[in-house]
Amino acid sequence: MGTNAPKKGGILRAYLNFNVLYKILIGLVIGAVAGIILAASGITALPAWISMFGTIFTRLLKMIIIPMIVGSLVVGASSVSPATVGKVGIRVVIIYLATSACGVIIGLLMGNIFRPSAELAQVTELAAEAAGKTANVSVWSVISDIVPTSVLTSLVNETVLQVIFFALVFGLCLSYMKVSDDERIRTISTTMYNVFDCLSEIMMKIVAGIMQYAPIGVAVLICEVFAKNGAKVAGALLTVTIACFVGYAIHIILIYGGLLKLYRIKIGTFFKEARTPFITAFVTRSSNGTLPTTMTAAENLGVDKEVYAFSLPLGATINMDGTAIYQGVCAFFLVMSCFGRGLTFGEMGMIVLLATLASIGTAGVPGAGAIMLAMVMQGINLPIAEGTILAGAYAMILGIDAILDMGRTALNVVGDLTCTCCVAKRLNYLKEDSLIK
Ligand code: ASP
Repeated sequence: MGTNAPKKGGILRAYLNFNVLYKILIGLVIGAVAGIILAASGITALPAWISMFGTIFTRLLKMIIIPMIVGSLVVGASSVSPATVGKVGIRVVIIYLATSACGVIIGLLMGNIFRPSAELAQVTELAAEAAGKTANVSVWSVISDIVPTSVLTSLVNETVLQVIFFALVFGLCLSYMKVSDDERIRTISTTMYNVFDCLSEIMMKIVAGIMQYAPIGVAVLICEVFAKNGAKVAGALLTVTIACFVGYAIHIILIYGGLLKLYRIKIGTFFKEARTPFITAFVTRSSNGTLPTTMTAAENLGVDKEVYAFSLPLGATINMDGTAIYQGVCAFFLVMSCFGRGLTFGEMGMIVLLATLASIGTAGVPGAGAIMLAMVMQGINLPIAEGTILAGAYAMILGIDAILDMGRTALNVVGDLTCTCCVAKRLNYLKEDSLIK
């Protein structure tokens, strides 16, 4: 509990001061216990007025997805200054996106191996509808469909990939205009940037507010899941956690170990320095919050400031390998739990694309990846809609999100440092030879 909880201000203030992480976990436990008790007494459904609290939570999450993508992606893309996007920038962005894509693939592999499922399977209308939508879809049409014909229609229909595409194009143009020689263009584009920066900050505030409500929503949704399915679903959450952490470990060993070896960087020296940002990220669950520690590690490793001062803040915003693994495992869990089947190849391909792009729009703050998971599900035509079992399964994930977030943030940060060192080594931006084999 917040140790300085004010004496005045009552229960609400004390509630707000209490760590949100613990609150959601407590919500999960209360919901699960209540659900098990209800199931034991033969009650499988909650009264509508209690159910409503869960529905409100699901609707709040859906409400935030599109404005959040627009705000954070436009800001993310326009923060990349064209001057720095020279040979360093392009290499950094490519290596960031490539490692994130590897992350999703590892996540999906973990899903297929561990096959976590809460076995909530009921073929709902939603599943049938989604199956209808995904049938007969060719890879080529999926790719061409990324380009919207009408931005407004994409926004209204919540077509995630199209919105991402337009937000990225918009943000990139803005980044060029911000450094134009024409003062008028510079002024108006800086104003526009400030508007989107503000939009993005507002969305983060709304998310923080939704997270304050999350314990109540999670408790109700979890209670419904347990009342219907009994205690057996708890084991599935343990499997999800194990699958994520095994995925994180494999990514460090295979992808980071492989990259460091490929670029002939001393692995021992690297990980000795990476330890501090790793632990800081694990504890704070924020890539942004860890940035000063990551920068110090890069400096100690002899990376030129010209590279890390650009690549690390960018990485904290767009490079999320741990989050990508988490998306893969959790998407598998959601589909497996709710529809009793694994992911199709089409869905997996779409998840790789969506989760890689989503990592650009995921802010380096605690819990942001969970909101992006909702976006990824929307992108494969299985939205976390109110009253569906998907919403219950998603709430289960949210209940343990803090634990998953610790591991994924630590990985996100080590990923930024690994890619930074590799690019610095490749382009001779290493000051000393401490890292060079
Ligand atoms: N907490 C993560 C980070 O800061 C983002 C996420 O929630 O996945 O890197």
